[in-house]
Amino acid sequence: MSRYAVFGHPIAHSLSPRIHAAFGEQTGIELSYTAIDADVAGLGAALQRFVADGGVGANLTLPLKQAALALCAQLGERAQRAGSVNTLSLRDGQWHGDNTDGTGLVRDLTGRHGLDLRGRRTLLLGAGGVGRGVAPALLDAGIAELIVVNRTPERADALVDALGEPGRAHSRYWADLDQQGDFDLVINATSAARGGDVLDFKLPTLLTTARTAAVDLNYGEAAIPFLAWARASGCRAAIDGLGMLVEQAAGSFELWHGLRPDTDPVYAMLRQHDASLHSAD
Ligand code: NAP
Repeated sequence: MSRYAVFGHPIAHSLSPRIHAAFGEQTGIELSYTAIDADVAGLGAALQRFVADGGVGANLTLPLKQAALALCAQLGERAQRAGSVNTLSLRDGQWHGDNTDGTGLVRDLTGRHGLDLRGRRTLLLGAGGVGRGVAPALLDAGIAELIVVNRTPERADALVDALGEPGRAHSRYWADLDQQGDFDLVINATSAARGGDVLDFKLPTLLTTARTAAVDLNYGEAAIPFLAWARASGCRAAIDGLGMLVEQAAGSFELWHGLRPDTDPVYAMLRQHDASLHSAD
């Protein structure tokens, strides 16, 4: 039976083992998928042990998506543009890195939630591993403009430089958010609310209008503060990251097994337990 795992720190609450087990059952593919705790310093050694034990594919989550770049012998186009890896596949004894976060988000927003992303003026809060993953896919989906803000401003600058689209993608300071006008799409790609912490940033309500869609890449308890802000601001839609989670997992499954599972039943299963979920892909 082929072995897969998600690596991250912390990792105990990851839903990925449940999602991949459900995909395996649905498609009749026998697989083992576990969660392995590893930090940035320990990732290389943890992956070596995993391969020695028969591991052939891995997902990476917080805080490993950028660190994993250096461990890949080859990178797919999406990982290269994102500067961030969420899927590793063992090919001829070497890791091939890819990134399914961005296509996962776009699939969820356009397919499941029926949003047309074309022409949307978009604000991305956060330029960590997942922010880097979703930014190129949003541009590819036809958004009109991307403004990136990050608590550490240099990371927003680095992401915008890497995107190489000076006409459409710009970084701004968090403190200047109230001077940026309003947005059609506001995406929270920060981990600020994880682990029960209160968001320690302030968002002006004038960022939104009645046609704005607000999306938190977190889900469960960690998505409550941002989605509450979105509803209080009168946004047309307030969407959490559970659908993206299932879609990015399906993207990894497809890379490893060559077929895309039906995500709707797995999404419905997880949605039933939504309130008790801890955001951890
Ligand atoms: P990461 O690489 O560790 O980046 C964390 C991001 O959050 C950085 O931009 C960081 O800013 C920002 N941040 C952390 N605490 C903050 C605070 N108190 N105030 C403002 N900004 C803060 O993590 P990641 O991999 O990008 O993941 C981010 C979140 O997305 C996680 O909660 C994760 O669960 C979720 N996620 C969801 C999915 C999904 O499929 N739905 C997939 C991946 C990730 P600095 O750069 O200043 O530190």
